[in-house]
Amino acid sequence: MTNLTGLRPIDRKEHLKIPREPVPKQPPEERIHNFNEVYRGYNEETVIIEASRCIQCPEPQPCVLACPIHNDIPLALWHTANGDFIEGYKAYRLTSTLSEVCGRVCPQEKLCQGACVVGAHGDPPVYIGKIESFLADYIRRHGGLNLKPKPPTGRTVAIVGAGPAGLHAAELLALNGHSVDVYDAWPKPGGLLHYGIPGFKLEKDKIEALIARIEKVGVRFICNTRVNDPGQPSVDDLIEDYDAVLLAIGAGITATMGTEGEDLPGVWQSIPFLVATNVPESDLPEGTPIPEIKGKKVVVVGGGDTGSDCVRSAVRADAAEVTLSYRRSEAEMPGREEDRGFAREEGVKYEFLTQPVRFIPGEDGSVSKIEIRRMKLGEPDASGRRRPVPIEGSEFILDVDLVVLAIGFWPDEKFAKQVEGMESKRWGEIKVDPDTGMTSRIGLWAAGDAVNGADLVVTAMASAQRAAVSIDRYLQTLTDEYQRLHVASRIKEPVAA
Ligand SMILES: Cc1cc2nc3c(=O)[nH]c(=O)nc-3n(C[C@H](O)[C@H](O)[C@H](O)COP(=O)(O)OP(=O)(O)OC[C@H]3O[C@@H](n4cnc5c(N)ncnc54)[C@H](O)[C@@H]3O)c2cc1C
Repeated sequence: MTNLTGLRPIDRKEHLKIPREPVPKQPPEERIHNFNEVYRGYNEETVIIEASRCIQCPEPQPCVLACPIHNDIPLALWHTANGDFIEGYKAYRLTSTLSEVCGRVCPQEKLCQGACVVGAHGDPPVYIGKIESFLADYIRRHGGLNLKPKPPTGRTVAIVGAGPAGLHAAELLALNGHSVDVYDAWPKPGGLLHYGIPGFKLEKDKIEALIARIEKVGVRFICNTRVNDPGQPSVDDLIEDYDAVLLAIGAGITATMGTEGEDLPGVWQSIPFLVATNVPESDLPEGTPIPEIKGKKVVVVGGGDTGSDCVRSAVRADAAEVTLSYRRSEAEMPGREEDRGFAREEGVKYEFLTQPVRFIPGEDGSVSKIEIRRMKLGEPDASGRRRPVPIEGSEFILDVDLVVLAIGFWPDEKFAKQVEGMESKRWGEIKVDPDTGMTSRIGLWAAGDAVNGADLVVTAMASAQRAAVSIDRYLQTLTDEYQRLHVASRIKEPVAA
């Protein structure tokens, strides 16, 4: 039996009989004392068994369609099942530069694995993410691919933001021979991969190795630089100094609750909390506040991935008691179910259908209690999820030492408005041409959460890929004369005859 291309002969019935190969994990009692990844990963024998579970569906393969960057997963798994890990990794490289990240943090159960036909047969789907991260790690352990950029084009690109969108575009453009500088406000590149997602999901050394690989193809990182801040380069400066500029600035504005006492000492926003608990001090700006968590009662508010990451970080920082409050029921929670399962194993308590209505200070002025109201579910709202409705008179008081708010992020509307000629949407998302990622200003592109709103690593990469392809085309066709005229018109000076 063959798939449609006839290139990969496979007996599907036989392959469907192969049971899922489990991935070893750190047990809860061990992992609560460290920030290392929960999964220990496949080895060279077990990964072959798991990859052999792929039945090489005929095109169009549902897993490929479900992947926002359309990785050729069956091809990668075919090579892996045959023990050729280098070719397996190369299959991912056709569409992705961040396999070490996506294999770990993508919500595969909703994407590739969610669409896996093996899963539709009642068996667990092929563990695609774990295979992808194995391949990326294998290649890194064996010295990496010898990535050779094309000859220099003499064209220059500035990227603002060194998160997954900026990193993906930077590597693609550098490999095409362009000179790429990436600016970032943090002391180290990585964006939320380093300054957000905790080590127990994605270890810091994986990001360091990734950055080193991107530097090796010629990308320069210019850190500790917040573009458009006083005394720092502006977007206009970059447009003048470079042939193309990509804004990959993420969605870094934290949503607020508008609840009394929200700004009390002891009430933390999620990113400062995650940064303080997860990032080595040497990678933090001087004077970054670090909370005292050991022995404290911690309440995290919010039901997304960020909420899960905060409760699990609090556990690892030796909090005495960690509770997550969410205003809907568990069924409406947007965060990954697997992470919730891990959090429960690690001792986190969940208070569903609860909403803080007041943060109350103690004698020292810091938060010491929360007044919480119970909720019930009403009719579905615009998101399709049932709306939380307050139950009047249901309020109760919870003692607390530290609160973490993990209720969402928005793109930076102020930044978007500062850039002349660049249009943005209602919530600050930068408006781009959906096919090219170019903004309403010539020579300026945008990608990632800054365009999509707070979303996923892989969707940030998908938009960065579109932008990189468009930038590359633009740079290839750019003549010096065109560039001179356009830069001149952008800065509104008369064009010299
Ligand atoms: C706690 C947390 C957990 C998450 N977990 C997951 C997960 O498990 N799986 C998943 O797929 N997604 C997850 N996400 C979402 C994911 O991290 C983002 O969707 C992704 O990082 C967006 O990539 P980006 O490159 O657009 O932006 P970012 O990663 O936010 O990077 C933007 C970069 O731009 C820089 N920047 C901003 N403004 C400026 C400026 N003016 N000058 C210079 N630099 C600037 C910032 O410093 C930052 O480094 C999580 C998000 C959070 C907050």
